[in-house]
Amino acid sequence: MKIAVFSTRSYDREYLSAAAAANASFKASHHFSFHEVHLQPETLHLTKGYDAICAFVNDQLDRATLQSLKRGGVQLIALRSAGYNNVDLIAANELCLPVARVPAYSPQAVAEHTVALILTLNRKIYRAYRQVREGNFSLEGLVGFNLHGKTVGLIGTGRIGTAVAKILGSGFGCKLLGYDVEPNRGCRDLGMAYVSLTELVANSDIVSLHAPLLPNTTHLIDEQTIALMKNGVMLINTSRGSLIDTQAVIDAVKTGKIGYLGLDVYEEETELFFNDRSLEVIPDDVFSRLLTFPNVVITGHQGFLTKEALEDIAETTLKNILEFAATGKCRNLVRA
Ligand code: NAD
Repeated sequence: MKIAVFSTRSYDREYLSAAAAANASFKASHHFSFHEVHLQPETLHLTKGYDAICAFVNDQLDRATLQSLKRGGVQLIALRSAGYNNVDLIAANELCLPVARVPAYSPQAVAEHTVALILTLNRKIYRAYRQVREGNFSLEGLVGFNLHGKTVGLIGTGRIGTAVAKILGSGFGCKLLGYDVEPNRGCRDLGMAYVSLTELVANSDIVSLHAPLLPNTTHLIDEQTIALMKNGVMLINTSRGSLIDTQAVIDAVKTGKIGYLGLDVYEEETELFFNDRSLEVIPDDVFSRLLTFPNVVITGHQGFLTKEALEDIAETTLKNILEFAATGKCRNLVRA
């Protein structure tokens, strides 16, 4: 199969190429062509003559794109992500265009990044780092709080939510609340109490989001949910930007209702993330406003970016392609 790989950076190319080189069956009959650009209407011509597309979170796989891909002879969409909110699955199903994903790659990568954001905010590591480099050893303004004994509310307790629960429950001694449409026993065994969304946000010192982006989770955190939260709550989102209404969150940071905000994802990240824009003017006023707060820490969708996760992603992507090429099926297909 000839596979056009979109939205690649050096690390994608390195890990996919290494996995391909180490796999004799893949090397024999499949070939990756790497592109830095996103897949979108302007870049569709790059898919001409290819049998499969390998895409990431900000590639645009809407109905029109899928129709063009199908017309051009593409047989498989192999996502390098767990999330698939950027794919019109109903259209893919109608077009009989299978979509495979990497359902579980090192959930610890994202879980540990979540905890990194919590500690960065709570212990004001970003301020301390800058101050000490400037020879300022004053501790004024650096008072944090212990995580031990605090209540953490996890919205979504699948693979990543469970990994966060293990670190914060067993490691830090936090009390755990969970909200999930399908509660799991593993989390209950960690001492998590499953409650309603309302109860969770009202009783948590830290709220962390680990649910997928779906129509019913879009803006799950909005003005109403925020109003129920404790004053000075910490809100963390390493899942998908549109789980929160960014403007409502900004308003709450301004009033102090939200005391700490840690984001690895942003609603309009497609136009910003994964590129060096340090010499450009950022045209997004909402994002720019977020950057002005001293109690907001943002990373550019790097939760997945560990060696282990990149190896897992590359391995599973290869397996998905090999399985599909050999059998016309794939166990990691996403259903509409
Ligand atoms: P998962 O499928 O294992 O878990 C998701 C959980 O959310 C499930 O338990 C599910 O029942 C629950 N859920 C579904 N709908 C819900 C709803 N309406 N309300 C509450 N809970 C609901 O997924 P995961 O591997 O834990 O990943 C979670 C999310 O993390 C992904 O969807 C993706 O968006 C995000 N993610 C981010 C990064 C990153 O780099 N920042 C990397 C990987 C995944």
